[in-house]
Amino acid sequence: MALTVLEHPLAGELLTRLRDRTTGPAVYRATTRRLGALLVLEATKDLATTRHDVETPLEPFEGTRIVKGLVAIPVLRAGLGLLDATTDLYPETIVGYLGMERDEETHEPRDYYAKLPPMEGRRALLLDPMLATGGSGTAAVAYTKKAGADDIVFVCIVAAPEGLARLQSDHPDVPVVAAALDRGLNAKAYIIPGLGDFGDRLYGTV
Ligand code: URA
Repeated sequence: MALTVLEHPLAGELLTRLRDRTTGPAVYRATTRRLGALLVLEATKDLATTRHDVETPLEPFEGTRIVKGLVAIPVLRAGLGLLDATTDLYPETIVGYLGMERDEETHEPRDYYAKLPPMEGRRALLLDPMLATGGSGTAAVAYTKKAGADDIVFVCIVAAPEGLARLQSDHPDVPVVAAALDRGLNAKAYIIPGLGDFGDRLYGTV
């Protein structure tokens, strides 16, 4: 399935601010929220609409409204940075939470927390800012599908080719929206050039 990389000067500027090592948590959070809005707009631009007629003060108008609701699923903890962007734009969004961690024995990602609402008839936006190896990303998609979602978009800020390939191979039906496709991963599975540990930078835990 398709990867869409934002191509907008504002997305470029906001992402540069996130990459900048001197950006502190307050600006980081505000910038993530603004960039998140651009990502969420892109991830929902194909939502179907239905006709919804209204009267302007001057005459009848053939308007539209969106048919499907959204469910936002931030992958803890970094994904929380993209949640407000979603509810700013779509206040009726319902929210599920998914916590993924690496099992120290098997090295496979596993869910340590999950609270997902009913997702029938909704588009699920999986919010996970860094698509690095794709391990937790693909596990998060699998979990979300198992819980009933059949229309999922994976929303990230930076994707690595490795993670993208894994996600596209495991879940070819899930489109990915990103602000950048970076060069690759380093030996510690950080995205290069990337922006460091997203959760640490968002919450000031470095
Ligand atoms: N997670 C992060 O926060 N940063 C990376 O570069 C890779 C995974």
